[in-house]
This record gives sequence, structure tokens and C-alpha cells, in this order.
Amino acid sequence: MEVWTITKLHKWTSRYLNSRLEAEILIAYSLKLKRIELYINHERVVNEKELADFKKLIQRRKQGEPIAYITGTQPFMSLEFFVDRSVLIPRPETERLVEVVIDHHGSQLTIADIGTGSGAIAISLAKYLPEIKVIGIDTSPDAIKISQKNAEHHKVSGRCEFRIGNLLEPLKEKVDLIASNPPYIPTQDIETLETDVKDWEPIQALDGGVDGLDYIRKLVNQAPDYLNSNGRLLIEIGFDQGGKVKSLVENNGKYKTIEIIRDLSGKDRILKAILQNDH
Ligand code: GLN
Repeated sequence: MEVWTITKLHKWTSRYLNSRLEAEILIAYSLKLKRIELYINHERVVNEKELADFKKLIQRRKQGEPIAYITGTQPFMSLEFFVDRSVLIPRPETERLVEVVIDHHGSQLTIADIGTGSGAIAISLAKYLPEIKVIGIDTSPDAIKISQKNAEHHKVSGRCEFRIGNLLEPLKEKVDLIASNPPYIPTQDIETLETDVKDWEPIQALDGGVDGLDYIRKLVNQAPDYLNSNGRLLIEIGFDQGGKVKSLVENNGKYKTIEIIRDLSGKDRILKAILQNDH
């Protein structure tokens, strides 16, 4: 009978999935090992039961299910987040938004994360800014369950509150900073997305309406009613939306500093706007 070591399984899977990284993540998850332990134990033999269980995972991946939904977790800001199909898988681009908030939060004490999903933004902010309080909002009760579980896991539930509701409506108090990674993909572009995304991730977390700006427009227009003076609005936007977003914030007239911040690859990524004192 053929003997499968971890090394052999890794080689075979890397070829089958066309990704060494995905192979590594799936093997580690399946054998309940840390990724580094695969290298330490590379000659360990994988038994028949383990092989059979692993094959089931590989088939799921082959059918397009994202790795994060298979393993149930996704790293974000060096923290591990629980995810399932009710939430968007946190993206590396969104880490930029969190970093910008950390750099620009000033004396901001209360932050709202609109469309919190897994809670990735809210919880990593609470984790890295120990003096703040965060309110995470999402329309999906299932998403709120996940975000609460993540906050407990990261021991910040004392400073994170999660509320179910539409955009800013659940806010009964004013906050110092509003952060959001809203759905911003134009409806007609959804079908051009990778299968992993369009067939598996929640459409309501992606679809931003005809021009992709439905939620961004609402956030820009509603935020002044919910922000303290000098309050800040930081929103993740699409790579080609900088110009349009900048003019809709300018046209609103209630903001002073308006800036489009680029990501590491030079693409428009974040809107940063500061409210005027006398709005
Ligand atoms: N706030 C979550 C994230 O950034 C979810 C965003 C969304 O569902 N659009 O990952």
C-alpha cells in the first residue's frame, strides 16, 4: 500500500490546487497542526482515515468553496477571525483602513463600524487601541452572532457592542469616528467576480447598487448627524471610485479635510473626511 507522508501529501495537493499555500493551510487544518508543524513533522505518515477526511476538504475547495469557509477562520491584522457564509471574508486591503484609523484616531474615543460582518474592523481596532469603545452594526443577525463570538475570543467584548440594524440608524449617541467597508461593487460587475467570491460570499456584503456607490453615498450624507464636531469618516472604496467619492463628499458641504488615500499598489482605497465644527 502506498505510504503518504506530509511532504508527499503537500506536493500532491499543491499541484492539484495549484497553490502551495492553500495546500499547506488545508493539510494543517485537517491534521490539526500549526503550519510550522508540517515542516517539523514532514516525514510523519498520514493514515487512511486522515487521508479520507482530507480528500473531503479538498473536494470542497475544488468546487470553489473559499479556504476560509472550509477552515472557519481567516487572519486579519495578525488576529484570527471566525467566519462562515453569513459574513464576508476579511480582506488584506481592509487592513489598510484599520491602519489609517489607528494613525488618525487622535483623541477619538468612540468608533462605529458600519457593516461590521465578522467584526474584523471593530475588533482589531479595539484590540490595538485599548482606550477606545467600538459599536459594530450590521443588518444581518447571523453576522452579529459571529462578530460577538470574535469579540469574546479576542477578549474585547467589554469595549465592543454589536447592534442589528440598517447603516447608522441603530446609533442613539454621537460618535467620534465612523469606519466602514461597505458593499461597493457595481451590480453589473458582480458576475465578473471569481466563483469563490460570487457563489460563496454574501451578495449583500458586496453589491453596492448600479454605480457601486449606494452605501457610500448614504454614509457620507447621514454621517454628519451622528458625528461629534471634528468627527471623522473613513470608508473603504473601490480602486476606481476615488474621483466620484471625493466630489460627492465635496458636494455635501459639511466636511473640511477630504482625502483619498491609496493602497500599497497605488490604487484609490480609502476616503478620509473630517466634519466641520459648525456643520
Ligand atoms: N466589515 C467587514 C469587513 O471589512 C465586512 C464588510 C462587508 O460585509 N462589506 O470584512
